[in-house]
Amino acid sequence: SSLFGHVEPAPKDPILGVTEAFLADPSPDKVNVGVGAYRDDDGKPVVLDCVREAERRIAGNLNMEYLPMGGSIHMIEESLKLAYGEDSEFIKDKRIAAVQALSGTGACRLFADFQKRFLPDSQIYIPTPTWSNHHNIWRDAQVPQRTFSYYHPESRGLDFAGLMDDIKNAPNGSFFLLHACAHNPTGVDPTEEQWREISYQFKLKNHFPFFDMAYQGFASGDPERDAKAIRIFLEDGHQIGCAQSYAKNMGLYGQRAGCLSILCEDEMQAVAVKSQLQQIARPMYSNPPVHGALVVSIILSDPELKNVWLGEVKGMADRIIGMRKALRENLEKLGSPLSWEHVTNQIGMFCYSGMTPEQVDRLTSEYHIYMTRNGRIRYQQRLELFSFFVLFIISLAPL
Ligand code: PMP
Repeated sequence: SSLFGHVEPAPKDPILGVTEAFLADPSPDKVNVGVGAYRDDDGKPVVLDCVREAERRIAGNLNMEYLPMGGSIHMIEESLKLAYGEDSEFIKDKRIAAVQALSGTGACRLFADFQKRFLPDSQIYIPTPTWSNHHNIWRDAQVPQRTFSYYHPESRGLDFAGLMDDIKNAPNGSFFLLHACAHNPTGVDPTEEQWREISYQFKLKNHFPFFDMAYQGFASGDPERDAKAIRIFLEDGHQIGCAQSYAKNMGLYGQRAGCLSILCEDEMQAVAVKSQLQQIARPMYSNPPVHGALVVSIILSDPELKNVWLGEVKGMADRIIGMRKALRENLEKLGSPLSWEHVTNQIGMFCYSGMTPEQVDRLTSEYHIYMTRNGRIRYQQRLELFSFFVLFIISLAPL
């Protein structure tokens, strides 16, 4: 008998599994609103002009040498300016330990491994719900997970009271995973005022905030505005961790370009922490990929190209905001008796529709519409999305 006879097929990933099922469906009418990648009006992937220009500048000039273990110094510098602010005193004081990471996922995983190695008795508090991969990441890093209240299904908004209670009730010095903006999958973010209260309470409890910032710029259209939550915590004197991804805001999905940073007490601590992060990366993948990092640093370090990028991020965010409006208006015009206010209140790439897993299953089996069972829909081609909702309204029971 084979050595691997006992290996059972792994359960399908709730997000990537949707794409697999979609590809296997022979129906010409099939629609995939599952995976979280931006698409144009024809449902095609988008490459930003600033990225094409950066690639033109790279062409022919790039050697294929290894990057340092911690990745591109230049790309890290630019990433820190984006997250912590152009004139951040923490950057000047060299208090931030940062390494280039394999996009947002890799940044989260590096942090989770670091947490396990240096604070082996700590746990991580994760919002309910969250991006499903957060659970896998901290599970594989063997960090015990707790959850905290976040979403209030009845109001389709933030469960602020529940969230504050959970922060207060967690043991002092707990680690919390916070979505910096455009919470995935709910599209519900705390207001600025609420962030201030959260930060204040974190301070009282000496909790450590780890920000997963996968959508900087994608929420409001302005990366500075989307960094507000982080800036509030910085103002309040917290040490923080931050995972940055260029998958969405530069459309660099497959390039795996990201950054992990940890704000330390002083430069000496930052040097030590960075060296340990590198040592965690070394046996896993040795050093990160060069191309995406170069694209990012070329765009962010050239004021002209950065402006092109800012315009393009805003373009993507505005287009989604427009789709939200149109979708809600359309549903109301169709005479839907339900409230669709949450569609325009939510922020970011997704519509957290409120559909049940059973309703989603029916959409998939009867109408070849593919999406995750939590009812999350990615905004895309208008016609597809509208037809989808029209079908939903006409043929399914109310939410
Ligand atoms: N965090 C959140 C909340 C996300 O939604 C995503 C992308 N789906 C990521 C992290 C990481 O994505 P990537 O590894 O492609 O940067």
